[in-house]
Amino acid sequence: MEMAPRKRVEYYCPNGHDFVLTLLLEAEVSEVWDCPRCSAPARTNPAQLTNQADNTRNRTPWDMLRERRGIPELEQLLREQLKELRAA
Ligand SMILES: [Zn+2]
Repeated sequence: MEMAPRKRVEYYCPNGHDFVLTLLLEAEVSEVWDCPRCSAPARTNPAQLTNQADNTRNRTPWDMLRERRGIPELEQLLREQLKELRAA
C-alpha cells in the first residue's frame, strides 16, 4: 500500500499540552483544535494564545470526563476526515 504524503502540524495548548497532528499534505489545516487533554482551544500559532487558560484551572469531574473522552473523539474525527479525503 502506498502512503500518501503527510505533514505534521504542531498545536500549542494554552495549558502547555502541546501536540502534533499528522495530516494528509493536501488537508486543510485548522488554526484551532481542541486540546485532547483539557479541551482548551489549541492554536498553530502560539502568539495567538489568550488567557482563556485561566478558566480551565479549576477542573470539575465533568472536565476530567471530557478530558478522557477527548482523544478517541479526536481520532474519530481524524479518521472521518481522512476517509473523505481518500474518497475525493
Ligand atoms: Zn491542554
